[in-house]
Amino acid sequence: MNVIERHESAVRSYCRSFPRTFTQARGHEIWDREGRRYLDFFAGAGALNYGHNHPELKRALLDYVESDGIAHSLDMATGAKEAFLERFHQVILEPRGLSHRVMFPGPTGTNAVEAALKLARKVTGRTNVLSFTNGFHGMTLGSLSVTGNGFKRAGAGLPLNGTTTLPFDGYSGAEAGSLELVERLLEDSGSGVDAPAAAIVETVQGEGGLNVASRPWLQGLEQLLRRHGALLILDDIQAGCGRTGRFFSFEEAGLRPDLVCLSKSISGYGLPMSLVLIRPDLDDWEPGEHNGTFRGNNHAFVTATAALEFWAGDELERETARKAATAAARLEEIAAGCGVPATARGRGLMRGIAFEAEGLAGAAARGCFERGLILETSGAEDQVLKLLPPLTLGDEALDEGLGIIEESVRAAVQASAASAAGGAS
Ligand code: PLP
Repeated sequence: MNVIERHESAVRSYCRSFPRTFTQARGHEIWDREGRRYLDFFAGAGALNYGHNHPELKRALLDYVESDGIAHSLDMATGAKEAFLERFHQVILEPRGLSHRVMFPGPTGTNAVEAALKLARKVTGRTNVLSFTNGFHGMTLGSLSVTGNGFKRAGAGLPLNGTTTLPFDGYSGAEAGSLELVERLLEDSGSGVDAPAAAIVETVQGEGGLNVASRPWLQGLEQLLRRHGALLILDDIQAGCGRTGRFFSFEEAGLRPDLVCLSKSISGYGLPMSLVLIRPDLDDWEPGEHNGTFRGNNHAFVTATAALEFWAGDELERETARKAATAAARLEEIAAGCGVPATARGRGLMRGIAFEAEGLAGAAARGCFERGLILETSGAEDQVLKLLPPLTLGDEALDEGLGIIEESVRAAVQASAASAAGGAS
């Protein structure tokens, strides 16, 4: 039994999926203690869009630490915070015509979701929040109440209420059909659905199985919410920061969300940081009404500010689109040629293959790990093999990873067919 098995709580999970001790990482590569190299297509579950230890971000952080820059400051004004806010406004908000205010709710994604839910209820005076099948928003109580996964919800140990779960785009199979149902439920005083404060939605469901909401569905949802005096909370924690191509995943659909949750790759370096973007007229907080000790991670501000330089031009966006097209074509080929029902899905560099047969995605992910590639599965039944490679990886590394996926999917399908034949004889 190793030291982690001996001392760390049973709740640990990724160290079970990838049972090696990792000691070094650079870009899209990570090494274990024995010196074995792995390609990292997990990328901190989307927290490392620019790879591990990006040299420019590392330099900015080392310089800041070396100069005795402030590390901890609650939400006091610091030079690092000012620099981030200024540059974020210049590079991200202003060019997109957004005037949202920035709230620092605490360091994790679920902190941002909790703050957005609270504010939406406060400003509308309503309690009900609409959420969607297979949505995932975090592990604290408010976030769990808008999360679909039954296993995660059960962990709450309390009734999760104040929310209504509705079908996500395509859930019932009918194109955009689910929005007609939502409209009907909100209009009908006999539906049992209370007027909502807001709906919280992901444009691509990261943990829920890489379900992609179509542009018309997202636009229809936004209009429907406006008609019913409800806010749109866009959870861009996993799909944002360039993961689907543009900085925000909702840009393609031209949405103007009232509240936006960002975390994961916003610091660019894997340092804890999250924020809520608030439409200015909704910024109705009293000072200190939502507080927290770790809302001013200055080291994260420093790397986040450096990471914004990726967005000063359009090269990263163009390159992501190009690599995404390569990945999409190859994954479609792998899915079509693997001999079992499987479909490629996703957007940008947030992609994967969904298998109908139980256990295949997990077996393929284990095979990838044995062959030197780290990636995870997603979906309520872990039925989707999911890739989140760093956006900055080169063509060769992308090709190498896709090759390992192809080999591992083939081997997993063969092993499953062999075991079915063995069971039948
Ligand atoms: N929202 C989405 C869309 C996520 O994917 C996640 C985490 O995977 C969260 C919220 C929660 O973020 P955190 O794990 O930092 O609390």
